[in-house]
Amino acid sequence: MLQKFYPEMIVDRVQDIDLEVLRNRNIKGLILDIDNTLVPNHVKDADENAVKWIERVKSSGFKTCIVSNASRKRVVRFNERLKIFALHRASKPGTAAFKKALRLMELKENETAVIGDQIFTDIYGGNKLGAFTILVKPIDSKTEFIFVRLKRIFEKVVLKSYYKNIKRTNLK
Ligand SMILES: [Mg+2]
Repeated sequence: MLQKFYPEMIVDRVQDIDLEVLRNRNIKGLILDIDNTLVPNHVKDADENAVKWIERVKSSGFKTCIVSNASRKRVVRFNERLKIFALHRASKPGTAAFKKALRLMELKENETAVIGDQIFTDIYGGNKLGAFTILVKPIDSKTEFIFVRLKRIFEKVVLKSYYKNIKRTNLK
């Protein structure tokens, strides 16, 4: 029942994603969340960590597209240094913006990974799309709004069930 919320991969930070593993799974493009995935919520510009990682991803041959629920202003400013495809007010977990990202990157859903810090927006939406989903730990969860904090409580329930299932699968 909770399977639709399970990510395919969990990492601490985007920098920990093994790009070789993605390549071996025929992943050619990455759909990226901004807030608490690439930078903390309060950081307006792409910082060195984000810029360097995106450069590495691009030079490894992957296409990229930001898909964020944040405002146009937030997304445009963040993307100033990166200059990659970027979609704002995405209404994740709805899949319309994800589908637009696929069109921009000229890729199919099974050639794409959705990367984000929230199970009920990034991962659920990415799973609905049929993409490979990667959950990162929120960079800074202390500054999150009350609504997100509430969602984190339910995320813990999903993760507990996820790890229980993984254990069971590994024992088989
Ligand atoms: Mg986020």
